[in-house]
Amino acid sequence: MEWYWIFLILAVAVMVFGVGVLVLNRRRSPGGEVRRTPSPAAPPGPGDTLVAERPVEVDPEVEVEPEVEVEPEVEVEPVKPASLRDRLSKARSAFTGAFSGVLGRSSITDETWEDLEEALLRADVGLGVTDSLLDGLKARVKSGEIDEPAALLDALQADMVARLEGSDRTLRFDELEAGAPNIWMFVGVNGVGKTTTIGKVARQQSEAGRTLLLAAGDTFRAAAAEQLTMWADRTGAQVVSGREGGDPAAVIYDAISAAHNRGLDLVLADTAGRLHTKSNLMDELAKVRRVADKEPGHVTEVLLVLDAATGQNGLVQAKEFTQATDVTGIVLTKLDGTPKGGITLAIETTLGIPVKLVGLGEDADDLVAFDPAEFVDALFDPPG
Ligand code: GDP
Repeated sequence: MEWYWIFLILAVAVMVFGVGVLVLNRRRSPGGEVRRTPSPAAPPGPGDTLVAERPVEVDPEVEVEPEVEVEPEVEVEPVKPASLRDRLSKARSAFTGAFSGVLGRSSITDETWEDLEEALLRADVGLGVTDSLLDGLKARVKSGEIDEPAALLDALQADMVARLEGSDRTLRFDELEAGAPNIWMFVGVNGVGKTTTIGKVARQQSEAGRTLLLAAGDTFRAAAAEQLTMWADRTGAQVVSGREGGDPAAVIYDAISAAHNRGLDLVLADTAGRLHTKSNLMDELAKVRRVADKEPGHVTEVLLVLDAATGQNGLVQAKEFTQATDVTGIVLTKLDGTPKGGITLAIETTLGIPVKLVGLGEDADDLVAFDPAEFVDALFDPPG
């Protein structure tokens, strides 16, 4: 009987110990709380972490192409700025022949003026600007202020710089409310280098930290959208294109809506340079400009792209495009391959539109901001 009691007491003691250990273990869980595994269907409690999906706003009226996946590892190589001085060899050669003639004489003669006039016209400065530059210099020679050939060249150089200085050449970018994108439109006839320039600008702007969308508004040239997509791939920009032969204004509008919905900073809009239909290019561009300026769009630049080799013909183009689209700046392309860089003076003096960018080749880094002093200095600097 005694053994029976001892066994009973031991069994009760073991049970009490076991229950004690269990209670202690539950108390030791983090924070002293009881962990629970939420059932998948259970609503999230206040302590649960939620990964909320951002709502995607899609305007049902606008056909937005699926977002282009931007590869995170797309690395934009830093731009190696082309040097205006090094790359203007052809433009410079138009001047240097004349300069050796001028400097080879001990005094200023009739031949001096002939050499200078020929050089300025060959460089496509234009008759009006050439006459006004030389008339001013002739008066200063007559008054005795300038009395030898080297001083005459210095005075010509300074006059040319003075005519180009004072223009605002910055590309306008406004901080807009509600994340609306800035629109930069590129206009100009086929083949001048619009699409290539957009690619180069995209590269520079993405390096400056802006997010971009390229709008393939030249729906009449089959290769333009492909070209733009290639540049977009290189620069990490997104692209919106439309059906071939489709309405350019509709493509631009869709692109702007997409950029707005995606919170992008800047839309670079390509436009047609020639239409396959009978409609007038200038009317079409004026319509594109109006549509691009509708909410949420805000056109801050209309850049007219001109091929420097077109010479004085470029002035006629510039007048037409300006009337249709209110051009804010000129991009002068292909200055690497022509002796006609003087067109810059003709454009600025005649039209009052600043040359903002200069194209010096076909590569991504062959686009530089136009600097009057460097440009004129390069023209007067004999090749070494
Ligand atoms: P778009 O029809 O106005 O869009 O002209 P593209 O961009 O297609 O350019 C027409 C051709 O000019 C292409 O072969 C370009 O590589 C070339 N191009 C564009 N800009 C320059 C430049 O600054 N220098 C040179 N040498 N070629 C250029």
